[in-house]
Amino acid sequence: MTPPLVPQRRVIPVVDARRAAPRRTSGGVPSAGAVRDLRGRPLTDLRISVTDRCNFRCGYCMPKEVFGKDYPYLPHAALLNFEEIARLARVFLPLGVRKLRLTGGEPLLRRNVELLVAQLAALRRPDGTAPEIALTTNGSLLARKAQVLKDAGLSRVTVSLDAIDEPVFRRMNDVDFPVAAVLDGIAAAQAAGLGPVKVNMVVRRGVNDGQVLPMARHFRGSGVVLRFIEYMDVGSTNGWDLSEVYPSNAVIECISSAYPLVELEPSSAGETARRWGYAGTDGRHDPAAGEIGTIGSVTEAFCGDCSRARLSTEGRLFLCLFASEGHDLRHLLRGGADDAELAAAVAGIWQGRGDRYSELRASLAARAAPAAGQRIEMSYIGG
Ligand code: SAM
Ligand code: SF4
Ligand code: SF4
Repeated sequence: MTPPLVPQRRVIPVVDARRAAPRRTSGGVPSAGAVRDLRGRPLTDLRISVTDRCNFRCGYCMPKEVFGKDYPYLPHAALLNFEEIARLARVFLPLGVRKLRLTGGEPLLRRNVELLVAQLAALRRPDGTAPEIALTTNGSLLARKAQVLKDAGLSRVTVSLDAIDEPVFRRMNDVDFPVAAVLDGIAAAQAAGLGPVKVNMVVRRGVNDGQVLPMARHFRGSGVVLRFIEYMDVGSTNGWDLSEVYPSNAVIECISSAYPLVELEPSSAGETARRWGYAGTDGRHDPAAGEIGTIGSVTEAFCGDCSRARLSTEGRLFLCLFASEGHDLRHLLRGGADDAELAAAVAGIWQGRGDRYSELRASLAARAAPAAGQRIEMSYIGG
């Protein structure tokens, strides 16, 4: 039997970030103001992974065969503590970041994560406004955590739910977790004012594509924005195959056969989801029926607008979901760097960014795609 793949965690040492020969940048000398990368993309969104552990075993993310009881999760001392995370977030805000999103693994498994939310909520951008603080969760612990997260200052939650049908969902999460508990979490988030709640459904052909319409029917008119995500080749443990991608245009075709849709304007620049409103009898968007979103990560690459950086649980900065290397900010942080040094390092790293994996996917597949085992897992870097 082939041994399970345990992904390598390649790291770009801090010396590269602080003292190495300058990388080619879009704006010359790295500055600590708002930054742009080599393709002119700003840095507006920081995703922070607070744990590499999870209580689900979704086959497309943490398949049981790989993430078993012997999997080498990060030791506690390797994790950034809340003060370190909040300090880094503070350094990122003047560089242009408006939104902080906590993710994982399952972020609600990190003990007292609401204390981190409170520290992040106290931060201010240079114009005095607070950053938006969002969280992506599998919803399993949300019913009991929603109010405390709201009280701590969380702005919004996104809940992942891949099916409304009980057997299909239990198969997808692979730990026999019931749908009803996730729906309770969504209801608790709505009641606590963490809305509009978004629900993410990864659609895998032949596995849960039969759930597209039932999910749409369930959430239509509920105030929840349901978003359909194409199954991505992120990481190297899920055995991804293009034939399992259920494209966004098929989702739209399927739903509009029952409920006519009209395309809506993007809510903001850099928004990855295309928005579709349920049409009323007059053919125009009926806000009471709500909207859905499609995220065509494979068939409609949106690298041109990608303004997201990702901070791993142990403090490595990744510039792309498909990057095989992360820049070691923890070393810099624990080595006594001050805020200005941290900001200059991050600015320099962002200004040297040219990543656009999804745009290149087709040609890379034939040539230089990162080899199996080199790509970073979604559960490590966060979605
Ligand atoms: N555990 C939390 C959750 O499931 O919401 C947060 C972390 S999870 C890695 C973040 C998001 O990534 C989820 O919405 C999940 O469905 C999505 N995801 C994970 N692996 C994926 C893949 N191979 N393709 C597309 N989306 C994926
Ligand atoms: Fe866990 Fe989220 Fe990955 Fe599912 S998608 S295994 S819930 S981290
Ligand atoms: Fe952004 Fe990388 Fe995804 Fe392109 S492939 S949208 S650069 S994360």
